[in-house]
Amino acid sequence: MQNRRLFDRIESIKFKGITKKYGPVYAVKDLDLEVRGGELLILIGPSGSGKTTALRMMNRMIDQDTGSVTINGLDTRDVDPVRLRRNMGYVIQNIGLFPHMTIGENIGLVPKLEGWDKKKIHQRVSNLLDFVSLPPDIFMKRYPRQLSGGQQQRVGLARAMATDPPLFLMDEPFGALDPILRKQLQKEFLKIKNEINRTIIFVTHDIEEALVLGDRIAIMDQGQLVQVGPPEELIFNPASELVSDIVDNQRKYKHMDTLKVKDLMSAYEDKYALDGKTEVCDAVEEMTKRDLETAFVFDGHELLGQVTMVDLMKCRVKAQKLADLARPMKTFQPLDSVAFALSEMKKSGEYIAIVMDPNKPAGILVSDEVLLKLI
Ligand code: ADP
Ligand code: MG
Repeated sequence: MQNRRLFDRIESIKFKGITKKYGPVYAVKDLDLEVRGGELLILIGPSGSGKTTALRMMNRMIDQDTGSVTINGLDTRDVDPVRLRRNMGYVIQNIGLFPHMTIGENIGLVPKLEGWDKKKIHQRVSNLLDFVSLPPDIFMKRYPRQLSGGQQQRVGLARAMATDPPLFLMDEPFGALDPILRKQLQKEFLKIKNEINRTIIFVTHDIEEALVLGDRIAIMDQGQLVQVGPPEELIFNPASELVSDIVDNQRKYKHMDTLKVKDLMSAYEDKYALDGKTEVCDAVEEMTKRDLETAFVFDGHELLGQVTMVDLMKCRVKAQKLADLARPMKTFQPLDSVAFALSEMKKSGEYIAIVMDPNKPAGILVSDEVLLKLI
């Protein structure tokens, strides 16, 4: 069956010995790389380093000369390219919406090709427009030229999500936007990323974007992979001059090992604290008022853990107490090394930690912010 899903979830994507030449030029040379299911992997490197070529070999817009790409063990050469592409969302810089089709028709195109009925398509398009913060009643019937660049980019994202593919390929999706809009869309994209929990391969040349969004970052140069690892690894252990140039860590911090948590933590404020005896519904109200996404739960002076707004919204028992809901979180001391703290946080998949001195909250460590302060 043409329309059946090739994969519901990505377990892994493996590039093995991939080479692609144009005449004498190696666009990609002997590339070995594994993408793990559920991660957002960044491809970054100088212009012409082979990022786009590597990405397009995943959906067979380009076929390699030698080597293989396997997805969950399936060799992509054994799959019809059109069918392969239907299993992936593809987002590029100038997203190429069809000018003569409405936004609704653009987003609904692939579902229509897949034979969905009209009602289901309409419902899906509405949901997606909502999801990317474009009210459907306003935007559904408009044409691409009536939208701003940022709005078109959102539509591109919605279109890529239309059939809910398990894999997204994104080639500098925010590259053409002005810096402020870019920051805004990155923020929204992070939300989307956490919500959809899909595997994403994301090309960028912006290291800040890479550090904020990436679970791991692969650095390419002249068609070859130079280093791949989580952001802090590239900052603390760059494999080459090029890597340290890209993460630009030399400029500010020559003595990375001596950097302490206290040097990079953000200020702690009392507004982050909630009492363990607070009930869920009161907590929601309180956190809304204080504009908090995450709160720390205390029993007197004892830290019980953290709760997020999402946790609370999901909780059906409104009379439940925060003490029962609080999830354990990482704590550090001001004199712990930053490298240690970041790697501990990465291991447990947390991006926020509290700094205690020695038993009182003294600061907050937010991994993204720390990484940005390092460059
Ligand atoms: P990046 O996306 O990192 O900027 P590309 O993958 O687009 O790099 O290109 C890698 C190299 O391959 C560059 O030297 C580029 O000029 C060359 N290249 C890419 N596509 C073609 C093509 N269709 N014909 C000839 N050379 C190409
Ligand atoms: Mg490119």
